[in-house]
Amino acid sequence: MPTLGDTSDLSSSDERGLGDRIARELYRDPDYLDDPVLAEYVQGIWEPLLAAARKRGDLSPELSQRFAWEIMLGRDRTVNAFALPGGYLGVHLGLIAVVSNRDELASVLGHELSHVTQRHIARLMAKQGQQAPWMIGAMILGALAASKSADAGNALIVGGQAVAAQNQLNFSRDMEREADRVGFGVMTEAGFEAQGFVSMFGKLQQASRLNDNGAYPYLRSHPLTTERIADMQSRQGLATPGSAKAELTLEHALVAARARVLSNTDVDALRAWQFEAGSASLGTQAAPRQAGVWYGAALAASQLRDFDQARIYLERLHGLVAGDASAARLARLLQAEIALRAGDAGGAQTALNTGSNPANATSQAGTPGQAPATGRPELLLAAQIALQAGPGGQADAASGTGGAALAAVALRLQTWVAAHPRDAQAWQLLSSVQGAQHQTLRALRADAETQVARLDYAAALDRFKAAQAFSRQRASGQGGATGGVSASQAAADHIDASIIDTRQRQVELLLKEQTLDR
Ligand SMILES: [Zn+2]
Repeated sequence: MPTLGDTSDLSSSDERGLGDRIARELYRDPDYLDDPVLAEYVQGIWEPLLAAARKRGDLSPELSQRFAWEIMLGRDRTVNAFALPGGYLGVHLGLIAVVSNRDELASVLGHELSHVTQRHIARLMAKQGQQAPWMIGAMILGALAASKSADAGNALIVGGQAVAAQNQLNFSRDMEREADRVGFGVMTEAGFEAQGFVSMFGKLQQASRLNDNGAYPYLRSHPLTTERIADMQSRQGLATPGSAKAELTLEHALVAARARVLSNTDVDALRAWQFEAGSASLGTQAAPRQAGVWYGAALAASQLRDFDQARIYLERLHGLVAGDASAARLARLLQAEIALRAGDAGGAQTALNTGSNPANATSQAGTPGQAPATGRPELLLAAQIALQAGPGGQADAASGTGGAALAAVALRLQTWVAAHPRDAQAWQLLSSVQGAQHQTLRALRADAETQVARLDYAAALDRFKAAQAFSRQRASGQGGATGGVSASQAAADHIDASIIDTRQRQVELLLKEQTLDR
């Protein structure tokens, strides 16, 4: 089958520039959320999909290199996922909460990924003709903002252009069919179950029957036409959506509960978890359902600062997940998170240490997108623990607190950001850790890199300049009578200062390009 049109007017580098512009605004949105646990879970599905798209040839090396391929989570209860220009993908927590397993989520992400790899966005953007990129960016952001509000059905006027808010990006029917076809190929190539594609359709079909469009913005941009369903059934020879029953996995039940809690932190919503946990019928439910409720109730109680109650729920949770390595890990991470919030750095470290025991880290090879036994959530928690304990904490690296712990976690964070330079949260924590170690110059640089990672080059330059000023001041004070800086410190400062100068020049160029784009 031929792909739809082979020429597109928007070059991949222009599309990336447009995507960066939109992403920069979204990073500032209070609803943007970098939750390490949810982000890792979604990333664990996204990466195998990308690898499969490359292997199948759907994703060219050029586009693979050029685009961001980044998922941005939104603290939103509605069920939605949408592709943005330049390889950014928006995913609402409501979608994570409503799917039953990785396979269902993979079916949606695979579809959205295919809109990008098939250059559907480039073609839509080309239709916008002579509009300046900032205007197109503003239109997309306006449509996104409107889709969150209650009267999302209303047309929105941005810069004199009426945009139908329900169509964040109004793909044609043919494009939707192509995204279904390519997306299905990508998800199965990545090792996800075809069943997830079918049961996700079933879920959408049911919501559509209940006319639940308010909670499912995804249905407004992706109407489930009989044509789409028939197309899927004939090509893939799959079962009818209604007959597919999705199995809720233990691990996903916890992730979904977390998404539900974090998408609605109103006091009433948090309290509602206690009622759910206290329900008499809970004991009759399947284990994943029960575990989800205990996880959600523990997290909700800790957000209400009721730590005693949170610990009771945690105990129940631990009992249910003991036999499942991934779910048990999520329970331990939650335990560490709750202890940290309660101000118990030692308890948080103990929970993390339990997880680092290799006996607990049974890997389940062969399962696509399986969570690692230890990863980014552990690292970011370890940094927060060391910061909370401070340099005055017990001087013992094993306890995870004290000056030695700060130094150890700084090293781990440095290694991490070298491999993941776009990780703003890791840079931010590194900056705090270095600040706690009185390494002012390095802390300023890491703070600048945090801004670079969020694509805010102007703010980054401010920090680089502050670092340069600090460095000059210290260098001039060095020869003075007080001579507060040792020779080895001066040598280290010199290296840091030259890195900062180089980065400052690089970011100045990036800022210039960003400004020219307008
Ligand atoms: Zn679509």
